[in-house]
Amino acid sequence: MKFFDSHAHLSFDEKSYLEADEVITRAKEKNVNKIINICSDLYALEKGLILKEKYKGIYLASAIPPHSEEKNLELFLESIEKALIEKQIIAIGETGLDYYYDFVDRTTQKKYFIKQLELAKKYDLPVIIHIRDAFDDFFEIVDEYYKNKKLLLHCFTGDKENAKKVLDRNFYISFSGIVTFKNAKNLKEVVKMVPLDKILIETDSPFLAPQNKRGKKNEPSYISETAKELAILKNINIEEVANFSYQNSLSLFNILCS
Ligand SMILES: [Zn+2]
Repeated sequence: MKFFDSHAHLSFDEKSYLEADEVITRAKEKNVNKIINICSDLYALEKGLILKEKYKGIYLASAIPPHSEEKNLELFLESIEKALIEKQIIAIGETGLDYYYDFVDRTTQKKYFIKQLELAKKYDLPVIIHIRDAFDDFFEIVDEYYKNKKLLLHCFTGDKENAKKVLDRNFYISFSGIVTFKNAKNLKEVVKMVPLDKILIETDSPFLAPQNKRGKKNEPSYISETAKELAILKNINIEEVANFSYQNSLSLFNILCS
């Protein structure tokens, strides 16, 4: 059994980066042999490139997130484009809209979101999306700018109705450790309705430690907690969850090896 963590922030900040070697070693010990490292600013991308070079099975995604704190956005965008040209990046993400917070106004968020979608189209790469309290604008924008392309809703916490709209557009949905939370009743119902060939799993580490690891810092080696919960909800065994989510990740991110 092997796992694919479709969303982790291994080089989120200096602390994460300094711990990354241990974190990746523990992940490999738990058969998490592929991880997508999400690089949301210049620092994360710079260190992410080093980790990618150093370890087999570490892949990079990069984009401006909805609430970017990057001070040098122009340089960040240039670095993303350079990495794209050098084929160092396998997905644009995470990008999207987050109306729960208002650190960045909605007009600016939309502007950068559309810009990232254009980048994905230009380089023919899938997009990893972060959406919170913004589904209506999200659907409007993808229907206009990103039709019939590969897209993943990361850390899905929407309701059944929005999950259906996502599936109608043939997009993928990734579930994080949130599905293991005792109070995640509605999300557990969403899991039951999403077909297996559209599901990916992720840790979103170092955030969102699963129920059994609460209080600890999350890391990719905990991905099996989410797989275990999905197995219960789907009434299948954990090997099947590991297998279909792994295969879905390979096909979404165009990774040819096994
Ligand atoms: Zn994330």
